[in-house]
Amino acid sequence: MTDCVFCGIVSGVSPAHVVYSDDDVIAFLDLSPITRGHTLVVPRKHSSGLADLDPEIGGKMFGAGQRIAGAMRSSAIGADGVNLAMNDGRAASQTVFHSHLHVVPRHAGDKLTFAKGFLTRRAGDLESTAAVLRSALESQS
Ligand SMILES: [Zn+2]
Repeated sequence: MTDCVFCGIVSGVSPAHVVYSDDDVIAFLDLSPITRGHTLVVPRKHSSGLADLDPEIGGKMFGAGQRIAGAMRSSAIGADGVNLAMNDGRAASQTVFHSHLHVVPRHAGDKLTFAKGFLTRRAGDLESTAAVLRSALESQS
């Protein structure tokens, strides 16, 4: 899919702040994060949503999400909790039609800042945030 922005990231044509990658999935920071560290896990092979996503690859996306969630808790991101979410279909607020799992760090009592982040979605310093997560993921293995 040449017009797919996430396929562009998978192929290396488009830049991204990659925090994790393996043979099946790649994870990078959301350019408009709800909270600092908000990451997207995508399959390397294009699928537009749940209907055409290989369940085995879906499991690998979830597994990567679990590892990244651990890195969010153990690193300077300092997450107290994590939301894993997949928006499937326009009615569910899916905006990029290449399957992706949102991994969103949460902090105790962050209801208001989370709501504000949902509206403003400011990038902040993505490169330093990516470096923090990459380092935490490396120290996991
Ligand atoms: Zn794609």
